[in-house]
Amino acid sequence: SEFIEFRDVRKVYKMGEVEIPALDGVSFQIKKGEFVVIAGASGAGKSTILNILGGMDTCTSGEIMVDGEEVSKMDARQLTTYRRYDIGFVFQFYNLVQNLTARENVELAVQICKNPLDVDQTIEAVGLRERRNNFPSQLSGGEQQRVAIARALAKNPKLLLCDEPTGALDYQTGKSILKLLQDTCRQQQMTVIVITHNLALTPMGDKVIRVKSGKIRSIEVNEHPKPVE
Ligand code: ADP
Ligand code: ADP
Repeated sequence: SEFIEFRDVRKVYKMGEVEIPALDGVSFQIKKGEFVVIAGASGAGKSTILNILGGMDTCTSGEIMVDGEEVSKMDARQLTTYRRYDIGFVFQFYNLVQNLTARENVELAVQICKNPLDVDQTIEAVGLRERRNNFPSQLSGGEQQRVAIARALAKNPKLLLCDEPTGALDYQTGKSILKLLQDTCRQQQMTVIVITHNLALTPMGDKVIRVKSGKIRSIEVNEHPKPVE
């Protein structure tokens, strides 16, 4: 059975008189525990998909189901709850609080959660035990992204949404972050969705959804997704 379902989702941004169709009838399905890569050029609609799936934006029409809940029918208050408890976000530029340490960044995020994981165990799991008392400015880009991943995972979300998680990192560091995401997916049956313009990431996906001009171009299932080494 499907964990996530997009059915004929449309999104039109209105800028005064001008209407920009960002998503034009997008449908796809994702199973629990899948590692999904959504790939496409800049402007294709990837962020719009992620924002709608994460409850940060709403669609113009269509239906979005996540774990049996109809996200597309939620009001603003329900969406806030959904974002807070169900979704972990990882961004390209980490979005850490600069005047809090690594550990404090994770602690802050779990304070408002229902069933958070243990902060120290989560920091350990992303390989940052030695660095937990450092501030973001004292950490490398890869380490900052690990903090951001720990912050997202410690919420114990149903779904981890990653927006160009390797986009600001060099090749080797990006690889180590992808490996962490893929390992997390495998070990915790976490559903992980990565959006990227980088086609080098597609061999790693259990499922690869290609978008172009607000439409699905193709959906492939990789029987043998490439492990990131
Ligand atoms: P991608 O993430 O693949 O680069 P986006 O989802 O950001 O693509 O954008 C899809 C389309 O929607 C683009 O034409 C973009 O210019 C437009 N768009 C995205 N966000 C907005 C917005 N807030 N207001 C108006 N247009 C937007
Ligand atoms: P190859 O098997 O082609 O030598 P590697 O073993 O070096 O590739 O890397 C494994 C895969 O991970 C490759 O498909 C590579 O393109 C991809 N990859 C690793 N790190 C990154 C990154 N930061 N950004 C994009 N793709 C990456």
